[in-house]
Amino acid sequence: MLRVLLVLIVGGVVLALAWVLAGLPGHVTAEVGETTFEAATPVAALGLLLLFVVLYLLFRLLGAVVRLPRTLAARRAAQRRRTGDIAVNRTLLALAAGEKGDARREASRARRLLGDTPQTLLLAAEAGRLGGREDEAETAFRALAERQDGAFLGLRGLLRQAIEREDWAEAATLARQAETVQPGAAWLRHERGRLAIRAGNWSEALALADADAPKAALAAAAAEAEPDATRAQRLARQAWQDDASLPSAALAYARRLREAGRESRALAAIRHSWTVAPHPDLAAFALATIEDPMERLKAAQRLTDANPQHAESRLLLARASLEAGLTGEARRHAEAARAAGLNQRRLWLLLAEIEEAEAGDTEEGRLAQRDALRHAATADPDPQWRCNACHTAHASWSPTCPDCQTVGSLRWSTQPAAGVLVQDVPTGSLLP
Ligand SMILES: [Zn+2]
Repeated sequence: MLRVLLVLIVGGVVLALAWVLAGLPGHVTAEVGETTFEAATPVAALGLLLLFVVLYLLFRLLGAVVRLPRTLAARRAAQRRRTGDIAVNRTLLALAAGEKGDARREASRARRLLGDTPQTLLLAAEAGRLGGREDEAETAFRALAERQDGAFLGLRGLLRQAIEREDWAEAATLARQAETVQPGAAWLRHERGRLAIRAGNWSEALALADADAPKAALAAAAAEAEPDATRAQRLARQAWQDDASLPSAALAYARRLREAGRESRALAAIRHSWTVAPHPDLAAFALATIEDPMERLKAAQRLTDANPQHAESRLLLARASLEAGLTGEARRHAEAARAAGLNQRRLWLLLAEIEEAEAGDTEEGRLAQRDALRHAATADPDPQWRCNACHTAHASWSPTCPDCQTVGSLRWSTQPAAGVLVQDVPTGSLLP
């Protein structure tokens, strides 16, 4: 509607102009050399208008001819850009769908059409990785790492490759370079933490650990490896305060306190941990400096003062009583542990020793020992360190599982993990 109105207005203006021109009076005379041109004013005005239009069109045409190569080049570039963008999209789709061949073909097409940009280099690298061409990926990542606008992406890719081929020295170098390019990146922090764990650099692993990481395990390991006594004690205290139920944390702390001459503080830490989670190694530490059997028994009583009913306390008191020659006491504690439901191999072996000490080489004593040993053969297994991630048993504690590398996964466990046990339990036996 507006357009129609505009056309009508323009038409009206042109008509009015033509009317005014047609009404102009007089003649126009022009002399060029010997030739004289004479025309009525409206005709001359129309002629001038036509001349202007023809000249204008000529100049436009000339301009278009001059600009032609540039225009064609711009059109070709725009076409390449459009085709390149399509290739980028197709590469992304192929990567998402896991189409190795398509991804590599489209990525190289995108690179050919759009040149080496951070985007095309990254796509070429990822397509190479998907296609199992690590060399191709590495070349693209290196090209990316050399660019200012893609250095972090390139280093990140190279770091991932180094980690996968377990080249820890190269990985550490790349992590340091990436940290320089992008300080404090969350992903990098996580990777550096993993590398520190792999390299057994526990202090660095602890410094880089997330809030929910098992810091007690890392701090305990860091304390053990720390040569500086003050720093080691600080790390050990941190480990123990984080998780007093972790024997390694309590032992690391108590050991450093003992080395510093603070024996009563060391024993207080051990007693606290025994109350939280008794472990034979804690008792071994507490009794290590005492030789007299009676004094050892007293030390065991002090240690177990807060939880004398615990199976571990009963076993410790029974052993210490036996060593002190108090076989009646030893039997009382061992029988109390058995009455509480303990049926481990170590209990029956201890009972066999008690029988031997009490009855000696008599018929009755031999029978009682044989009975205890028979029970030991079929008893529950003794507790041991077990990974709660992969369920593997280990002879000693370590901050990471030697099998699956999970941090802080080793637990002092009396039974195989629940997932393993379930298969052994006859299902439906409790049903009526
Ligand atoms: Zn494991």
